[in-house]
Amino acid sequence: MQCPKCQAGMEVVRFEDTEVDRCIRCGGLWFDRLEYEGVKPRTGSEAIDTGPTWQASMHNEQGKVFCPVDGILMVGLMDPAQPHIRVEACPVCHGTFFDAGEFTDFKESTIKELLKRQRRARTP
Ligand SMILES: [Zn+2]
Ligand SMILES: [Zn+2]
Repeated sequence: MQCPKCQAGMEVVRFEDTEVDRCIRCGGLWFDRLEYEGVKPRTGSEAIDTGPTWQASMHNEQGKVFCPVDGILMVGLMDPAQPHIRVEACPVCHGTFFDAGEFTDFKESTIKELLKRQRRARTP
């Protein structure tokens, strides 16, 4: 598989029972079929996100990104709660691509959001 952003090779990294492809150059992470949803809540999964984060914002400027699996134009997804994170998703195979650092960011923010929600639920 080739990185959809910089066309470098991808290496397979493993977190518990899930295999994730990581770009050897930009450190972007590729998850098959929404697998990130299963990996994200697990403790320590940010360990697979080791890429150079300074490249991430640069890559966000890239206009068109094509799915490395089927060549379909991917769509940029933005979480309204975390507008600095832009994830590319394939509308056909539902693969998702995170730039280096975005997965960690996504995890952290979500945990923070959860804490905030819990705190809110406790106060009358
Ligand atoms: Zn890359
Ligand atoms: Zn695809």
